[in-house]
Amino acid sequence: MRCPYCSTDDTRVINSRPSDEGAAIRRRRECVACSRRFTTYERAQFEALMVRKRSGRLEAFNPDKLLDKLRIACNKRPVSEKLIREFAYGFEDETSAPEIDSEAIGRRVLQFLQELDAVAYIRFLSVYHDFDSVDRFIEEIQQLDERRGEAEAAGAGDAPDPTAEPRRSDTN
Ligand SMILES: [Zn+2]
Repeated sequence: MRCPYCSTDDTRVINSRPSDEGAAIRRRRECVACSRRFTTYERAQFEALMVRKRSGRLEAFNPDKLLDKLRIACNKRPVSEKLIREFAYGFEDETSAPEIDSEAIGRRVLQFLQELDAVAYIRFLSVYHDFDSVDRFIEEIQQLDERRGEAEAAGAGDAPDPTAEPRRSDTN
C-alpha cells in the first residue's frame, strides 16, 4: 500500500479491525519512510461507490481524484490538508447509495467548501459550473455573500467543527 503523503510503497499495518458491521476491514497503517499514519478500508467490490458521469458512463469513485480537485481549489488558502483529506477519504463512507452522479458529488463539495473558505468555494464553483458568462459568475458570488451574511447574522459564522458529523446534502 502506497503512502498517500510521500508515495513510498513501504507501509506497515498497525492494526486491523472490522468496520461498517463487518462489511469492511479498516486498517491503520504507518509509512516506514515518513512515519505518517493513514487508514485504508478493504471492502467487497460490489459495494464500491460508482459515479455516473455526465456522459452517462459509470466509473468507480476515486478519492484521490476528489482530493486533487480539493487541493487545487484550496491552494494557498488557510484550509487544513487534514480536513480536505478526511472529506475525500470519508466521502464513500458517507454515501449510502451504491451510485451517485458526478453533479451530486460537486454539490456536496460546494456545500463543504462554502463553510470552509469562500475563495476555495468560488474556485471550485468556477470549474464545476463552467459558467457561460461573467454576469452569471458575479451573480453566484453575490448570492454567496448574502448567504454568508445570513449565516453570520444567525451566529453561525464560526469555523466548522472538524469533529462534527459531516452534513449530508439534501440534493442527493
Ligand atoms: Zn510516507
